[in-house]
Amino acid sequence: MSSVRYVVLVLREEYFLDEVPDEYRHFVSLLVAHVRRSHPHPLELEPGDGEYICDRCDGDIHGARWHCKDGCDYDVCDACHQLG
Ligand SMILES: [Zn+2]
Ligand SMILES: [Zn+2]
Repeated sequence: MSSVRYVVLVLREEYFLDEVPDEYRHFVSLLVAHVRRSHPHPLELEPGDGEYICDRCDGDIHGARWHCKDGCDYDVCDACHQLG
């Protein structure tokens, strides 16, 4: 499996970073962190009721939640969204 394939699986949360072979783990962790900071899809505002964790700051989301329009499991709190 290629390193990029591991990145996709970790981003989809089908794979944990711990499960990535040692020789790829550093590269995969850097790329996953980068993509999570700069998500490639547009985000839309949804009610934040429920248990959501911000993918940028790892904090609980209360109130406004910015969710990926393409349906990824990607949520951002309002404070992080305003930072751009
Ligand atoms: Zn946040
Ligand atoms: Zn997305």
